[in-house]
Amino acid sequence: MTPPSLRDLPLADDYDPNSMPVDKARAHIRAFLTPVTTVERVHIRDALGRVLAEDVVSTMNVPSHDNSGMDGYAVRHADLAADADVTLQVIGTSFAGAPYQGSVSPGQAVRIMTGGTVPKECDAVIMQERAKAADGKVTLGLGAKKGQNIRRAGEDLAVGQIVFHKGQPVRAAELGMLASLGIIEVSVLRRLRVAFFSTGDELVSLGGTLGAGQIYDSNRYTIFGMLSRLGFEVLDMGVIRDTPEAVEQAFEAASKVADVVITSGGVSVGDADYVKQMLDRLGDVLFWKIAMKPGRPLAFGKIGNAHFFGLPGNPVAVMVTFYQFVRDALMVLSGRTNLEPVATFKARLTAPVKKAPGRTEFQRGILTRDDSGEWTVRTTGDQGSGILSSMSLANCFVVLPTDQGNTEPGAMVDVQVFEGVI
Ligand code: AMP
Ligand code: MG
Repeated sequence: MTPPSLRDLPLADDYDPNSMPVDKARAHIRAFLTPVTTVERVHIRDALGRVLAEDVVSTMNVPSHDNSGMDGYAVRHADLAADADVTLQVIGTSFAGAPYQGSVSPGQAVRIMTGGTVPKECDAVIMQERAKAADGKVTLGLGAKKGQNIRRAGEDLAVGQIVFHKGQPVRAAELGMLASLGIIEVSVLRRLRVAFFSTGDELVSLGGTLGAGQIYDSNRYTIFGMLSRLGFEVLDMGVIRDTPEAVEQAFEAASKVADVVITSGGVSVGDADYVKQMLDRLGDVLFWKIAMKPGRPLAFGKIGNAHFFGLPGNPVAVMVTFYQFVRDALMVLSGRTNLEPVATFKARLTAPVKKAPGRTEFQRGILTRDDSGEWTVRTTGDQGSGILSSMSLANCFVVLPTDQGNTEPGAMVDVQVFEGVI
């Protein structure tokens, strides 16, 4: 299916370029993503963090045989009396990996270890703490249930079952499950390739000397960190001078080598119009003013075959727009399906929050659990979009909806926890 052109978006009526709501921008972005499709066969160890390119079907039962969940005695349940202790003859032992070879007749029991195969005549395992063994015999108490302490063949994974679906990420549990199925290699999607560069004449790369009014380029490092944490292939293209030639060359080069191009700076209203004109020529790009704080300007579209995200220049705005728009989009582009929503819950404010109605705000918060067990939150202090330390101090975003104004202590507010997201 050919994705529709960005130019088909409803620009005139229900879309106000001066105030695009956060949710609408997310939905528009979602509609224009073309995920990677190239498949690679890799050893399961190299599949960690990758996205499965096909369903994985179980070719065997896990566990492959009925086995004991306890150290104890495998018995025939019918031998156990309802109203009295029973003494059985112990005829052998079933170790994990070394099953008892004979059959078990009425009146007999087999000593069994955790993971040991349950003899086919037995239908319960009595834990050794409930048994008294002496002279080749064992005495068992009351109350055993049929089937107890037996892990059934196929109870974890059954033959023919779809174990994992295409589009699912491979994490530690999946690696272990693949190994338990004896699978050595899996098909995964090619890693998403993301190129990024910074724009601005004031920016100096690490190792350079700062001249008057210059600053070190920090955005490239936060972007590098955010991308690397998500497991993408990253291409750092450096700082690009604010000249039409340099910027055009950078866009062309990046869009040829990467699936996604991310820039920071240079997309706000005050920035040179040549960027807009150039991107109009090179691709299909929209410039939005999102009704959010921080992070008002956001450019999104395609340059050649590459998807493009033009983030604001301010360091905090870079991170907030990345997490609110780009992260999920990149996951979709990498082939992920069924993205889990970011964990959001309500916490009680312990300090006043300043906010003007009209935009969704993503203030940086410190979430703690107070002595009574309640989750409470306060902001990190100065919420300026250049105060990057606010992101470091914080462990959550406090998400304040558009219409909300100043908020007093005691109010319940939405928090998005960083752990698991960032
Ligand atoms: P801009 O969107 O280009 O107008 O930039 C907004 C603010 O972010 C300015 O104060 C820039 O100096 C700052 N800024 C832009 N890019 C970077 C960067 N890569 N690292 C640190 N600060 C930046
Ligand atoms: Mg700039």
